[in-house]
Amino acid sequence: MKEKTGMILAHAGEEYDQYFNAIVPPVFMNSLNIFPTVDEYYDSDKRDKHTYCYGRVQNPTVRILEEKITELEKGVESYVFSSGMAAATAAVLTACSCGGHVVCIRTAYGPLKDFLQNYCREHMNVRTTFIDGDDPKEIEEVLEDDTQLLVLESPSSVVFRVQDIKKAAEAAHAKGALVYIDNTFCTPIYQNPLELGADFVMHTASKYLGGHSDIIGGSLTVKDPELGKRVRTIREQIGSIIGPMEGWLMMRGLRTLEVRVKEHGKTALAVAQYLEQHPKVKKVYYTGLASHSQHELIEKQQSGHTGLLSFELDSTTQEAKGFCQALRIFKIGVSWGGFESLVMMPYAREDEETCKKMGAGQNVIRIHCGLEGTENLIEDLEQAFQQVF
Ligand SMILES: *Cc1c(COP(=O)(O)O)cnc(C)c1O
Repeated sequence: MKEKTGMILAHAGEEYDQYFNAIVPPVFMNSLNIFPTVDEYYDSDKRDKHTYCYGRVQNPTVRILEEKITELEKGVESYVFSSGMAAATAAVLTACSCGGHVVCIRTAYGPLKDFLQNYCREHMNVRTTFIDGDDPKEIEEVLEDDTQLLVLESPSSVVFRVQDIKKAAEAAHAKGALVYIDNTFCTPIYQNPLELGADFVMHTASKYLGGHSDIIGGSLTVKDPELGKRVRTIREQIGSIIGPMEGWLMMRGLRTLEVRVKEHGKTALAVAQYLEQHPKVKKVYYTGLASHSQHELIEKQQSGHTGLLSFELDSTTQEAKGFCQALRIFKIGVSWGGFESLVMMPYAREDEETCKKMGAGQNVIRIHCGLEGTENLIEDLEQAFQQVF
C-alpha cells in the first residue's frame, strides 16, 4: 500500500496528452473557458471531469492536485481552498445550520475556535462545547441530539494530544453528527482518518503539503459524494478556491511530500530524545516518543510522526523567551511544515488558567525541525542552553 504513495505524488490525476505530453502540467492561468455553442456552455453544468467553465468553480491545474490529495487520503473527492481556514470554515458551514451544536477539542486551531465561538454563535446561533478529547467517553457524554459536527485535531499542534478517531466517529455518527479532523500534523502519509470514520479531512497546505513556506492553501477531502457536492457549492459561493499559481506550487511541493516528512520525522525524533534527557527540560511533547502517555493509541492510528514538537524548560517564561532568542538556526516565527526550523512560544501571552486547560505551561516552546540537518539543530539547541543557563 505504501509503495503506491510515490506513484500518487508523481503521476496521479495527470493526463499528459492533454497538454502536449509535458511531464509537468501547466499553470492554467485562465479565469474562464469558452464553448462552441450556447447550449454546450449551459450543459457544462453537468461538469464531467474535463468540462471547465469558470475559474472560481474549477481549474484544470487545481483538479490534478485534488485528485492526488483524494488518492492520498483514500477519499472520493477533494477540494483545494485559498487557505486552511477557508477549508475549515467551509466544513463548518457545510455541516452546521442555525441553532445547531458543535463539539470541539480545546486544543484545536485557535482561529477555528474563534470562528465557532464568535461568528457561528452570533450569526447562526450555533453553540460549541469544548472538551479535552482524550477520553472517548467524554466525547460521548457531550454529544447532544442536535450536535451537527465534531471537530478533532489529532495530534493537536501544541501539546500533541491525540483522540481515538474511530471511537469518536462512532459516537458522533450515533448522534447523526459529522466528524471533521485537522490532519495537518500527520499529513496523509502517516494517517488516513477517513478510513477510521471521519467525514471531512482538512489539511493546511501552508504547512507540509506545500512544504516550502511559499504558499497559503488548504484542502478538504470527503468520502461521501453528496457531502462533496455541498462542499463544492460552498467553495463556489464563497469564492474560496485556491489560485492556479498557488495550486501549481502546492502540486510541486507535493512531489516530495513523502521524502520530506520522513526526514523531518527522523530529525524531530532525535531532537525530542536529546531534549528528553536534558536536565533543564521538564517535559517533551512529541507523538514519536515512547514516553507519550497515549503511546498505544498513537501506534494504532498513526504510522509515523513529522517535525513539530514542544517542550517545557525548568524555567520562567522570561528565561524561555531568552532561550528562543539564543537560538541561531531556529528562527522565531509562526507556522511550520516548511524546509526551515522555527521556534515559537504559543502560550506566552496566555494566563495561568488558560494554560492549564490547554495542557502546558506559559513557558512551553514549540519547535519545527526543518531540513538543515539533525546535528546542526541539536548543536543549536545545545549552544542556546549554554548561553541561557
Ligand atoms: C496553520 C494551521 C491551520 C490554518 O491554516 P491556514 O492555511 O493558515 O489557514 C489550521 N490547522 C493547523 C493545525 C495549522 O497549523
